[in-house]
Amino acid sequence: MARLVMKFGGTSVADLDRIRTVATRVKREVEAGHAVAVVVSAMAGVTNQLVKWCQELSPLHDAREYDTVVATGEQVTTGLLAIALQTIGVDARSWQGWQIPIRTDGAHGKARVDTIESAELLKRMAIGQVPVVAGFQGLGPDNRVTTLGRGGSDLSAVALAAALKADRCDIFTDVDGVYTTDPRIVPKARKLDRISYEEMLELASVGAKVLQTRSVELAMKQGVRVQVLSSFEDKPGTLVVDEDEIVEKELVSGVAYSRDEAKVTLRRVPDRPGVAAAVFGGLAAANVNVDMIVQNVSADGTTDMTFTVGRADLARAQSVLEQARGKVGFAELIADPGVAKISVVGVGMRTHAGVANTMFKALAERGINIEVISTSEIKISVLIREEATELAVRALHTAYGLDAAA
Ligand code: ASP
Ligand code: MG
Repeated sequence: MARLVMKFGGTSVADLDRIRTVATRVKREVEAGHAVAVVVSAMAGVTNQLVKWCQELSPLHDAREYDTVVATGEQVTTGLLAIALQTIGVDARSWQGWQIPIRTDGAHGKARVDTIESAELLKRMAIGQVPVVAGFQGLGPDNRVTTLGRGGSDLSAVALAAALKADRCDIFTDVDGVYTTDPRIVPKARKLDRISYEEMLELASVGAKVLQTRSVELAMKQGVRVQVLSSFEDKPGTLVVDEDEIVEKELVSGVAYSRDEAKVTLRRVPDRPGVAAAVFGGLAAANVNVDMIVQNVSADGTTDMTFTVGRADLARAQSVLEQARGKVGFAELIADPGVAKISVVGVGMRTHAGVANTMFKALAERGINIEVISTSEIKISVLIREEATELAVRALHTAYGLDAAA
């Protein structure tokens, strides 16, 4: 007998038929003798509507009232699924975040989970009752409802699995697992049986949208075994586990891309101490995240500095930099939103040479120019022209031997 957390996302509970299907799936695990807790998202589209209402009333709304509104989507689903389970003879009850409670910090709209009271849930699970828990929400130190940020019910599920010491956290979604790359671009993409936390984290942070990034971080920290699988098909998905559990390590496990980037170049920046601090300090203060950074050697006491920011932040970054122009003293600011970031990720890179060169060669053979490069221990990212995204992803998928056999 195992202890399981089963999490169902918005598309899996989009209407009553799907909620009935979810109930059947849960019933099967209960009948197999497992102790099960369920975490649900709001029905597809509901959270978007709730967010929109808040924004329409006031773009600068009170974040505590925003949480009061947007947390309601999940409440509806918990009640409906509990009813559906009871209807087919499964003992179940709904739980809101404040009832458990799932305690969070006070950062309304993007709260972090602090503690989850697990004793009562465990007692009920042991006698066959299924707690149906509202994802995405918790209780803040101010005794008010908080939410964990968009996509946050993945995080709720992993945090609950950790608190319950569950054997596994199954994340049911509309794809059947984690792929070597986006199958819409590369039809020969393969589903991975296993992937390590670290690889999943890198992939999630560079555009693979299967799991919310923070949930992967928490799973890694707490050692929660996560499975990503389809709620529409009955087959195993991808297990996200510790690297040691992966016997056949691939050099590269996945190729990811992101079109959400923009490139900023500052020409002829004075080459003296404090300049980088002035540039990036200003951006940080304005909440602009900077990703790749390169700075060249200086020849005449000035240097060029290139970095990337989120495309949505580009205008803000430009205005912050223009304001700091006097202090920083650059000659020209070039903003370029027409770029894409392509990343290859794999733990095998740690121990193998030549992985980057394979990437550069494959791109060169397709005539794709590399504008910026950055690396981590298990990731190489390049910035290219946005138009070349699909060509680059296909070329790299082939170059690293990831294509499925025909
Ligand atoms: N319903 C929330 C959202 O749409 C949380 C989630 O689905 O994970 O962001
Ligand atoms: Mg989601």
